[in-house]
Amino acid sequence: MSHPAPDFSPTASRLFRSEEELARLPASERIRYRLVAAERRYHANDNISAFVREGELAELKAEVQAKLQEVLQALVIDTQSDHNTNETAKRVAKMFVREVFAGRYKPAPSVTEFPNVERLNELMIVGPITVRSACSHHMCPIFGKVWIGILPNEHSNLIGLSKYARIADWIMSRPQIQEEAVTMLANELQERVRPDGLAIVMEADHFCMHWRGVKDSESKMTNSVMRGAFLKDANLRREFLSLLARKDSSR
Ligand SMILES: [Zn+2]
Repeated sequence: MSHPAPDFSPTASRLFRSEEELARLPASERIRYRLVAAERRYHANDNISAFVREGELAELKAEVQAKLQEVLQALVIDTQSDHNTNETAKRVAKMFVREVFAGRYKPAPSVTEFPNVERLNELMIVGPITVRSACSHHMCPIFGKVWIGILPNEHSNLIGLSKYARIADWIMSRPQIQEEAVTMLANELQERVRPDGLAIVMEADHFCMHWRGVKDSESKMTNSVMRGAFLKDANLRREFLSLLARKDSSR
């Protein structure tokens, strides 16, 4: 999705704090300050890369590490003599900032969109794409599969098959809620591809269900989004869902 450029103009920041003042704050507060000044939302599954400046990710990682060290301390774990947890805060901070939640901090993957010169107008199905995320409620892993159905028109842009996986990964690498993740992915693809119809199905396993709470071993959740032609045309919807069922059973 394209977002309006944040306003870092001197007038906007002078109203509150100068850049020198901001520089003395921890990176997370600096970034939060810019987000609030620009009236931008920063929920767990929002991308805030436009507000993070060069070098600040390393600072964020150090901050997260220090806080995680306090969490371990609060859990009464002796990270000094326990060689297993000695570096845990550092490892988890890196994992959060650079890996599993990286989709919050890095800009959208660059994907080349091609005009539909062949004027393809047949149903295209991409998937299953393996997706990995974490639930915002418990920060437990979510593992799943995504299928994407696209009905292009002559004005649609086409993107390479592997790029669907890169875009999905960017959106899933954040603390997510499955319903919201599917909608975010649909919005992103709608904007880039501009098809006549767009369908997304996500089936995922939520580890917070296995690991805690009811400890249910069958905890798959399925969500779908249907847009445009997929909403209006029951046959198209059926075609998509039947191809998807067949693809799944052939694995
Ligand atoms: Zn959960």
